[in-house]
Amino acid sequence: MVKILNYIVSAFFPAICLGCSDKLLHQEQHICTHCRHNLPFTSYHKHAQNPVLNSFYGRVLLQNATALLHYKKNGMVQQLLHQLKYKGQQEIGTILGNLLGNDLKSETSYETITHIIPVPLHKKRLQKRGYNQVTTFGQQLATHLNATYVDDVLVKVSNTKTQAFKKRTARWMTAQHSFEIENFGKLENAHILLVDDIITTGATLEACANALKKIPNIKISIATMSIAS
Ligand SMILES: [Zn+2]
Repeated sequence: MVKILNYIVSAFFPAICLGCSDKLLHQEQHICTHCRHNLPFTSYHKHAQNPVLNSFYGRVLLQNATALLHYKKNGMVQQLLHQLKYKGQQEIGTILGNLLGNDLKSETSYETITHIIPVPLHKKRLQKRGYNQVTTFGQQLATHLNATYVDDVLVKVSNTKTQAFKKRTARWMTAQHSFEIENFGKLENAHILLVDDIITTGATLEACANALKKIPNIKISIATMSIAS
């Protein structure tokens, strides 16, 4: 019965590829074979020095940093991230997390990672969207790297609340990004992998990393789904 129902539903509402909107073939799920073969991988994690790690040099001390895909305006990755962020397609995070996780677990420099930390959304934004678009990606990475997914240490705080306690000169600095640490003890001596969907200027990740640095003896690495180029 369920099979027949599925057949009828798929006849009227064929599943479409989240990358190119073409109709999916029977055995394809979420992203078509053509799009999967054309994902613009960076392979940055295969190199000790890479553009992501180098972009943070002199800003914040990191162990390792990588991004899975190249992001181009109007490209397939932009389409995928849009579906993930605004259309509830959290499977995209799972797929990308699997791809990167499979790569990272064979890289010795990522072996010591103990915790995966997502860049948090503000509480109000989270309520509105219903999910953090980085969650499924981070959870998949945690599975592959044998690490713990932790989303109650790094929190995004209300800018207005922060600003009320700051002097005028400091306001500009905190206008966009304010992150705080809760449950300090959880990540003492940890090597964390901070994860996000995209790196553009790196300002958000830098602000997160600087907040996390308040935790004693913490080591920080970064992995994102994509990097804008
Ligand atoms: Zn496609």
